[in-house]
Amino acid sequence: MKYETVIGLEVHVQIDTKTKIFCSCSTAFGSPPNENTCPVCLGMPGVLPVLNKRFLESSMKACLATHCTIEPMNRFARKNYFYPDLPKGYQISQMELPLGTKGHINIQIDGVKKTIGLTRIHMEEDAGKLIHGENLGSPGKSYVDFNRTGVPLCEVVSEPDMRSSEEARAYLAELKSILEYAEVSDCNMEEGSFRCDANVSIRPVGQKELGTRTELKNLNSFKFVQKAIEFEVARQTKVLEQGDTVKQETRLYDSDRGETFPMRSKEEAHDYRYFPDPDLVPILVDSAWVEKIRKTIPELPEQKRERFSSSYGIPEYDTGVLTSSKALANYFEECTALFPHPKTISNWVMGDLLRDLKKEGRDITECPVSPAALIELLKLIESGTISGNIAKGVFEEMYQTQNSATSIVEKKGLKQITDSSAIEKIVEEVLQANPSQVEELKGGKEKVLGFLVGQVMKLSKGKANPGMVNKLIKEKIV
Ligand code: ADP
Ligand code: MG
Ligand code: ZN
Repeated sequence: MKYETVIGLEVHVQIDTKTKIFCSCSTAFGSPPNENTCPVCLGMPGVLPVLNKRFLESSMKACLATHCTIEPMNRFARKNYFYPDLPKGYQISQMELPLGTKGHINIQIDGVKKTIGLTRIHMEEDAGKLIHGENLGSPGKSYVDFNRTGVPLCEVVSEPDMRSSEEARAYLAELKSILEYAEVSDCNMEEGSFRCDANVSIRPVGQKELGTRTELKNLNSFKFVQKAIEFEVARQTKVLEQGDTVKQETRLYDSDRGETFPMRSKEEAHDYRYFPDPDLVPILVDSAWVEKIRKTIPELPEQKRERFSSSYGIPEYDTGVLTSSKALANYFEECTALFPHPKTISNWVMGDLLRDLKKEGRDITECPVSPAALIELLKLIESGTISGNIAKGVFEEMYQTQNSATSIVEKKGLKQITDSSAIEKIVEEVLQANPSQVEELKGGKEKVLGFLVGQVMKLSKGKANPGMVNKLIKEKIV
């Protein structure tokens, strides 16, 4: 039997705000445990939550950026469950009336476009964090840090529209990019600002009803999302092929072993006894407010990709790489403003620059070579002062030392030799040293020309102008 994979993703995104969702405690990451707490986020009896307006407006932005409809009336609900890191005994979330509904995200894999539906985006508070003593040298004890309780989150729930782990990855990358572009979240996965749960099922090809899903948690990188889904699809396939049925359950991914294992049986909505939170009024959003927020949304990745390919005339592949982050796109545009050769710039940025950054795990915002410095180098190539090959070495040195291209070229004497008598001398030397190759070239074996040019370049330490070398050898031999 052939099976089809079905995936729906739930992503928790921390929305950038200075203060928490219902109190004025700081949301700063990395503070000493329990420093950012107050009676509200500690769930003391008698306190009242007050919604952070900035958070609401950023959440509206997230909804609009993903083509969701903002519901004119939405409200918070209590999701009741007990856990030591949830001091109130319930989480304030949204249930039957979420902020945003019916959105979509466009993805593209190998040139094939696909639209993934968004069921909803709702607002909720984060829970605290349990730290088990095993990790602190005091086994048997557990500690709780409430700094995270009340940190504002949006949960983005997709339709079960994805059919492979690659589509899931592409969806996550695009969602992350949109939210970064819209400036609603830094989507820092290491700090937990962008967390994904994957719902996975399989069904016989052609069957309409969905299969039983499992929900995979603890996926803190795109790579793990992909691997966990692949493991899970293989596992479910084996279960069905053995004539068993897949159990609906929540599973954890162990990245060391590359496996998922059961965590708990899946809870149902009624287990949480949701009801409207009586401490918070329903949120009424009129269209004037929606339009006001819409105006604050900057250019989004999809629009930027279209503009890049139409106004710079660079290939789709380049466009995709260069717009993969807003900072990288800005870097590229700063370069093009200084030097109107987009494809040349794109080659350098995608090649040498990104390669060096990647090697050190650095982000473009930490790039030691500024747009102006890179362009200074490209201008030296354009004017014929140095060859493209020499420029590669100069770039490496710029990256390491932050010295300017001009000063490196001068200090190291890397200027291209364009004086034809100087080149002629080297050419003659090479021809004399390689009589048999000269004969072959005379006999019409064109391939030998490249070898001879290479010898001249080597002898000149890469500084001879390759065009002139080519021309001189031909003149001498014919
Ligand atoms: P819950 O909180 O119970 O996980 P949600 O409605 O918040 O429920 O999320 C359900 C997620 O699971 C959605 O992303 C949805 O697309 C996905 N989903 C639902 N049924 C299936 C299925 N059979 N196979 C794969 N994904 C599914
Ligand atoms: Mg879920
Ligand atoms: Zn607080």
